[in-house]
Amino acid sequence: MKELVVISGKGGTGKTSLVASFAALAKNKVLADCDVDAADLHLVLAPTVRHEEDFSGGKIARVLAERCTACGQCKEVCHFDAILEGDTFSVDPVECEGCGVCVWNCPEEAILFEEAVNGQWFISDTRYGPMVHARLGIAEENSGKLVTLVRNQAKQIAEEGGHDLVIVDGSPGIGCPVIASITGADLVLVVTEPTLSGKHDMERVAELTRHFGIPAMVCVNKWDLYPAIAEEIEQDALAGGIKVAGRVRYDKAVTKAQVVGTSVVEYTGGAITEEIKAMWRHVLYALG
Ligand code: SF4
Ligand code: SF4
Repeated sequence: MKELVVISGKGGTGKTSLVASFAALAKNKVLADCDVDAADLHLVLAPTVRHEEDFSGGKIARVLAERCTACGQCKEVCHFDAILEGDTFSVDPVECEGCGVCVWNCPEEAILFEEAVNGQWFISDTRYGPMVHARLGIAEENSGKLVTLVRNQAKQIAEEGGHDLVIVDGSPGIGCPVIASITGADLVLVVTEPTLSGKHDMERVAELTRHFGIPAMVCVNKWDLYPAIAEEIEQDALAGGIKVAGRVRYDKAVTKAQVVGTSVVEYTGGAITEEIKAMWRHVLYALG
């Protein structure tokens, strides 16, 4: 079983649209949406949820009002201004970082330290096969942990079901969630745009894959909007040991496909679909 992770230096490069097309082209695969901070693969794949669980990425404090004597010690020791003062004291769940200091300093043992619910994760059926995805709560942290959970679940389903491939819609950027997305993958496909920031983003992501020793390929999406930069990105990638998977042109069919909730390769038989199919063949070849 192989694992392909599709990432980008920032959001909005067309990464998820490509993953949706790969989902339509690939056989015998499991899908994983690890862009948990802004998950949207489900908008195209319309999954039917068959298993749902809460995700806890850490702990949160909660004051038992009936035990609190309002001594104020918890407020003194909290470095995050998360203790609210009143007749009894309480914890602001948005500000609480779950450090636990107040719990250990409360003389009345009036503060509970509970598992926080930071989001939910799902196992679903789609018209392209099983998919694992998640929803992180607003302003919640620990998305790296949730990414790891989603990937591991997808790999487990693939192993148990005899699937050949896991396709991961990875997190954008170069932070903790993207590191959690790519670690141990067989191949990373970096999707970028032909702009100076896209070039810079590609270099940063490429450095990350090199650091972790993961084979990588690059795809310049909407390459025809600025062919000279597209060329520079590809040359830089090749110089850095990253293969070029292909180019995809700008086409309004991408937006139209999104509007009707389908992938580009299903929506149109035009040139863009041929480009995506060619790229998919290169990716499969690189995956061995
Ligand atoms: S330290 Fe304990 S008893 Fe004192 S105010 Fe905080 S919760 Fe209440
Ligand atoms: S767990 Fe830490 S951050 Fe949360 S209220 Fe207590 S001291 Fe403040």
